[in-house]
Amino acid sequence: MTATRRPILSTVLRWSGLSLAGVLIGLLIAAGRGGARSTSPPSSAPATPASASRPADCPCRTEAMRREASRVAEDLRGRLGASAAVIVDPPFVVAGNLPEAQLQRYLATAVRRPAEAMWASLFQRRPTRVITVLLFADRDSYLAGAKRLFGDENVSAFGYYRRNERALVMNIDTGTGTLVHELTHALMAFDYPGAPDWLAEGLACLHEQCRVADEGIRGLPNWRLEGLQAAIGGGTLRPLADLLADDDFYGPLRGTNYAQSRYFCLYLQHRDLLVRFYRACRDSPAAPPAALVEQLTGEPLERTDQAFRAWVMTLAWPAEPAREP
Ligand SMILES: [Zn+2]
Repeated sequence: MTATRRPILSTVLRWSGLSLAGVLIGLLIAAGRGGARSTSPPSSAPATPASASRPADCPCRTEAMRREASRVAEDLRGRLGASAAVIVDPPFVVAGNLPEAQLQRYLATAVRRPAEAMWASLFQRRPTRVITVLLFADRDSYLAGAKRLFGDENVSAFGYYRRNERALVMNIDTGTGTLVHELTHALMAFDYPGAPDWLAEGLACLHEQCRVADEGIRGLPNWRLEGLQAAIGGGTLRPLADLLADDDFYGPLRGTNYAQSRYFCLYLQHRDLLVRFYRACRDSPAAPPAALVEQLTGEPLERTDQAFRAWVMTLAWPAEPAREP
């Protein structure tokens, strides 16, 4: 990778008539999803901007990407109004009803830096199309924006990802945990588009609370622990083999599925197997994930499941302080 850095192309317009969020920037704040608001404290992500080192052959440096980014930015200016702030930093176009400086800090700390960390440690194929990040300052402007731009109603209180448009739509007043969750989906779509739901959601949830560094991104315990420990303690958590073979992740068990898959990813990270497992799944799509786990651990899946459950019960949330497992 080269150390050169191309200047950010910044074009700013202001978005009038909308209140500004009094949001502290610089730390990644985890946020709950699916109706369960998190009270989680800041993660230990550094406040400094992303190093933004980019390989010379990064698709984000191509003329086609720059042209698409300019088109997307112009379209957003037209649709959001003359007062919206729009920042072009391929592959990202970030827009919102926030002061430019605040939008820049979100771009640096909650988009660019975690993205660089995911590319450094996990994902190998970078985006070849623009990813749009819409950051709304508060609930009212978020709901109005989701409806006006996409016709979306009854959306999550925190934010969501529109897969077809590659657009992240966020109420950033709720924190940046959901932003990094959805960013993981957006980036993973280019590296492993056929990922099973449990793995895609497991990694996205893992990054809701994380430590970001130049060498990579690492998940930390978060608010999803409590429900998982209750399920394990109550004997209601289904076997890992069932989760890994599940083709109905978003069905009736979805709440527990999110937690089980997140913490299984955290457990693989704890055993230093997460990156190898992810890449094995991606590169051997025909292989059952359970078989790949057994191959990597060298033990039957049932034994891994037992060890996973015992390990989960040793975790604490909130961590003391932000302890990495
Ligand atoms: Zn998700």
